[in-house]
Amino acid sequence: MTASLPPAVPFFPPALFEADRPALIGLVREVGLDPEQRFILGRRTAAFEDRLREDLEAADVVACSSGTSALSLVLRAMDVGPGDEVIVPAFGCAPLAASVVDVGATPVFADIRPDTMTMDPDEAERLVTERTKAVMPAHMFSVMADMPRFAELARRHGLRLLEDSAVAQGGVLRGVPAGLWGEAGLYSFVQVKTCGMPGEGGVVVTRDPALGEKVRMLRNHGQYAGRRFVHHTVGLNSRFDEIQAAFQTYRYSSFPARLARRAEIAAYYTERFTPLAGRGVVPPPPDRDGRCFYVYTVLAEDREALGAHLAEWGVATHVYYPCPLPAHRAFAPYAPPGARWPRAEQAARRHLALPVHHLLTDAQVQHVADLVCAFATERS
Ligand SMILES: *Cc1c(COP(=O)(O)O)cnc(C)c1O
Repeated sequence: MTASLPPAVPFFPPALFEADRPALIGLVREVGLDPEQRFILGRRTAAFEDRLREDLEAADVVACSSGTSALSLVLRAMDVGPGDEVIVPAFGCAPLAASVVDVGATPVFADIRPDTMTMDPDEAERLVTERTKAVMPAHMFSVMADMPRFAELARRHGLRLLEDSAVAQGGVLRGVPAGLWGEAGLYSFVQVKTCGMPGEGGVVVTRDPALGEKVRMLRNHGQYAGRRFVHHTVGLNSRFDEIQAAFQTYRYSSFPARLARRAEIAAYYTERFTPLAGRGVVPPPPDRDGRCFYVYTVLAEDREALGAHLAEWGVATHVYYPCPLPAHRAFAPYAPPGARWPRAEQAARRHLALPVHHLLTDAQVQHVADLVCAFATERS
């Protein structure tokens, strides 16, 4: 008897840009053969920025070289620097702390909420001092941070509000797109992100035209657009590529469908996993508002055993942040001695990301859900 093998389920799509290859090659030719010979910050970049700006009803969208660079540009545009403190989540990716260190300011780590894994506004508020200049919540995995609370907190304490919305493009909370809750937000286009592209890039999005103008200058060595060699401020090289701009514009119209497929898969997982409460596997809170579906993450009491069980049946999973930010050697100098972030530590121990990309088939999605349910049921 031959048992049919279940389909292998890769974490990232194995043929991410397969369907777009002819278009991509066409655009390489088009830009490459254009007599204009403009390969960065040309009309294609401007057109892509306009497309996003109109779509979001933002004041400005400024394309730059990466999501990390977008964070640095905004912190600089807000004049965050030496002597300033910026409150960041204790659980998340390195650029959250590194971008603050990079401008000479001090990251102050706030603990997270146990269910959403995003920064806890009450914890953030406890850490406000007279040196606090900005607060920088980040949307995590598939859940947006509590932006109404952070906006209110920033207003009350007179703080700048920078929203790390790198993973949340297309997410909307109470009618406001991710990235537009604060004074500035950003999206990353590194290939694994929901609106990723074959290369590196990002955008700053803002409702504040003056801030947008400053970011525009800073991304190109502090020069005004169109006036080269006049430097108003010390900037960076964080420019955007014309081939990528053409590709992003071409592919943007299919972005909602790709996001919708991710949302559909996430909704199915949550429906299957919600009854597992009390059995050691906890899905993200089931709300549909303020969701982005970059990564679908469960919290598992025995994360290693669940990961091994899924691997045994061909399903790849991912642990994003195995330790809290202040526990890394790079950021330990900014952690007050003896301080603890118990919920960040617990999330670091328990989170496990399941495949949720738009190219998964229904059979693959069901296979993943069946395995998780069987694991939780057998264990309890
Ligand atoms: C990916 C990511 C970034 C950085 O974006 P890059 O384009 O990779 O530099 C910043 N913040 C968060 C939360 C991210 O997930």
